[in-house]
Amino acid sequence: MEHFSALPGIGRKSAGRLAYFVLDMPQEQAEDFAASILAAKKSIHNCKICQNLTDKEICDICASPQRDDSVICVVESPRDVAAFERLQEYKGKYHVLHGLISPLDGVGPEQIKIKELLLRLKETDVREVIMATNPTIEGEATAMYIAKLLKPLGIQVTRLAFGIPVGGELEYTDNSTLNKALENRVSM
Ligand SMILES: [Zn+2]
Repeated sequence: MEHFSALPGIGRKSAGRLAYFVLDMPQEQAEDFAASILAAKKSIHNCKICQNLTDKEICDICASPQRDDSVICVVESPRDVAAFERLQEYKGKYHVLHGLISPLDGVGPEQIKIKELLLRLKETDVREVIMATNPTIEGEATAMYIAKLLKPLGIQVTRLAFGIPVGGELEYTDNSTLNKALENRVSM
């Protein structure tokens, strides 16, 4: 129950229900469940290039010759990559920050994958970086911070056009709204 209640969105009551459910599982199913948690922790790591989660050294998107190397969409989490991939419209690459700058939570620029983005921009010819962080205070602050760093490099920095409600999350935004936000992106 302790472990389940540590999961996001699981209260004490649900944690109890889940724990009893696991106890009722057939032995084989319980072993399978436990093994898949361990296997995922062992084999899933960040892509060397974009920092998205993968079980390979370089993820399928980075490795694909069909994807445009010259456009990078910067997002907060792997879940946001999944949201854009759902659209099947975006043909560029991604960079996953694994968080947002949030001084109140003690998260500074060095705690998220900004350094990795800058290194990447040095090594590849990139013409546009799309700041696709959520329209929250932290999302905006992070986008501004990175835009400032990139300006002197002569790379065009754009921001999603927001039909996405302020404070809303990309992950839960419907496809057509997200598509519009991407299509109508504006210069920063
Ligand atoms: Zn990658």
